[in-house]
Parts: sequence; structure tokens; C-alpha cells
Amino acid sequence: MTQLLNGKVLSQQIKDEIKETVAQTTFPNGRPPHLAAILVGDDGASRTYVNHKIKACEYVGMNSTVLRFEQDITEDGLLDEVQKLNEDHSIDGFIVQLPLPNHINSDRVLQAIDPAKDVDGFHPINIGRMTLNLPSYLPATPMGIITLLERNNVETSGKHCVVIGRSNIVGRPMSILMSRSAKVGNCTVTLCHSRTKDLEQHTKAADILIVALGKAEFIDKHHVKEGAVIIDVGITRIEDDNMKRGFRLVGDVHFDNVQELCSWITPVPGGVGPMTVVSLLQNTLLAAQKAVY
Ligand code: NAP
Repeated sequence: MTQLLNGKVLSQQIKDEIKETVAQTTFPNGRPPHLAAILVGDDGASRTYVNHKIKACEYVGMNSTVLRFEQDITEDGLLDEVQKLNEDHSIDGFIVQLPLPNHINSDRVLQAIDPAKDVDGFHPINIGRMTLNLPSYLPATPMGIITLLERNNVETSGKHCVVIGRSNIVGRPMSILMSRSAKVGNCTVTLCHSRTKDLEQHTKAADILIVALGKAEFIDKHHVKEGAVIIDVGITRIEDDNMKRGFRLVGDVHFDNVQELCSWITPVPGGVGPMTVVSLLQNTLLAAQKAVY
């Protein structure tokens, strides 16, 4: 029988746990944890993501600040803002919401963040520490997937995990985490990307298939082995006049076609998305507790 990896329900449970911890903890700085978010331009999806993060902070009793900048802010201007946040003792951690405008080098901006405040876990130092299994902030989306698997007691040890997508924020760190010697890990990992030949041959061999390529309903029945665990990271907005907001969200997996085949599957929405937000809260809590650095 197929079971749902329900990120909506689990994220609510974890938010309640964080809320209790925040209420009961005396933090080294003598105040609740404080997350800041840099938002550049007016992209609707980015605004929505930042709003979700801020609402989640409010819910758990954390402070939050959004710093909004015009689309035409210069790279140097943005780097100055990052530096200000690095030096601001009232902020425990901050994120730069991606994507940034094309004229800004995202890598340069992400690398300017103090690793101790990098609660999105994108800084090379955090990625390096993660790779070496040292204490670090894990990238929020892969961390959320690990939590989803762990809390649902999905066995990963010895399994063949196939990850589609090699982005620095999802696919690549995910592949590293699944291969680590850890409670959720110990997989034999195959990492696929746009140059992979005969993708289906790889996906068909997956006990655990993690899909992060950003193409709506790309993975269908013929890609999936019976009994596989399917994690759908993709989020694509599809125009839909029947929806009040004019669009609906679709994953990279054709849920209706695939669900009957697999043992576990994440829905979109309500799977990986809410877990990403919760991971950010967990990292912010660690930052305020000074538990990593
Ligand atoms: P990305 O940076 O665009 O990377 C996409 C990856 O997919 C690339 O590595 C690309 O290969 C690979 N790819 C593209 N077409 C392919 C194909 N036909 N076969 C095999 N591989 C293919 O995307 P991303 O930032 O990782 O995001 C992926 C999806 O996840 C998007 O829909 C995004 O919105 C969503 N997302 C969701 C969350 C969440 O919280 N749920 C968080 C982050 C992202 P190359 O490297 O060869 O180009």
C-alpha cells in the first residue's frame, strides 16, 4: 500500500516542538532567535516563499526581518547589505532568497555570508563540513527530506538512491547526504543530470528516487520501480483559471500515475516544501543556541 510522506503534517508537528523549545530556552543573546531574509526584486514566487518563512518564524516565537531591495540593486550594494547583517549582533541567521537578478553573481553573494549565520547552509564552508560529516548547517531542502525520511522511519541503509538534478542547493547536497554514514544515509547513490544517458535505466533501478529537475510531471510510471520511495522536490506553477490565484503547483512527478506503484511518495504541494521552511527554523534555532559554531 502506498503511504504519503506528509510534509504538511510533519512540519506542523516540528514547528510546535520548536515553539516549545523557543519558549523554554534562555538563549545566549538573551532574546528569542532572529532570522533575517534579503529579498531582491518583485518575483511572485520568491515573495511567497519569504512570506511563508516569516509567518513560520512568528508562529514559533522567533523574531524576523525582511530586507527588500529593488531589482536594480548593484552587486556591490547587495554585498554591503550582507556585510551589515554579518556584523549585526541582533541577527542570528539570515538568508538571501534566490534567484537573484542576472546582473548579480549569486555565488559571490552567498560566499559573502558569515558561515556562522548561513542558515540556508549554502556557504562552501558549510557544504564542506556537511561533506565531512562535521557539525554544520545543512542546506534547508535536503535537510527537510532527511527529516521526512527519518520521522517516517523509512529505511535507507543499503538502498540504491537515485537523485535527479545536481544543483548546489538541492541535488548535489542531497546525493552527499544520502551517501553519508548516518541514520538516514548509507545509500549507494547515483546522481543524474541533463547529460545522463538513458535516464529511465537509472530511475527504474532506484529504491529511493529523489527528483529535483524543475520539469512539471516529468517522471511517469515507466520511470519507476514497484515499491520505490519517491521524493518530489519540483515546484512548477501551471496556469489554471479554475484556481483563485490563477495557477496551481505541480511537482516533477506525475503523482496520479505513479502513486499506486510506490511504497512512499511526497505530494506537491504539502511534501518537501513545508519541510524546507521547517529546516530553516531548525537551523536558526541552532544559530541562536550557538550550537554549530
Ligand atoms: P536547477 O538549478 O534548475 O537544477 C535542475 C537540475 O536538473 C540540473 O542539474 C539539470 O541538469 C537537471 N535536469 C534538467 N533537465 C533534466 C533532464 N531532462 N534529465 C535529467 N536531469 C535534468 O533546479 P533546482 O534549484 O535544483 O530546483 C529543482 C526543482 O525543485 C525546481 O522545480 C524548484 O522550484 C524546486 N525546488 C523546490 C524546493 C522546495 O522546497 N520544495 C526547494 C528548491 C527547489 P544540468 O546540471 O545538466 O543542467
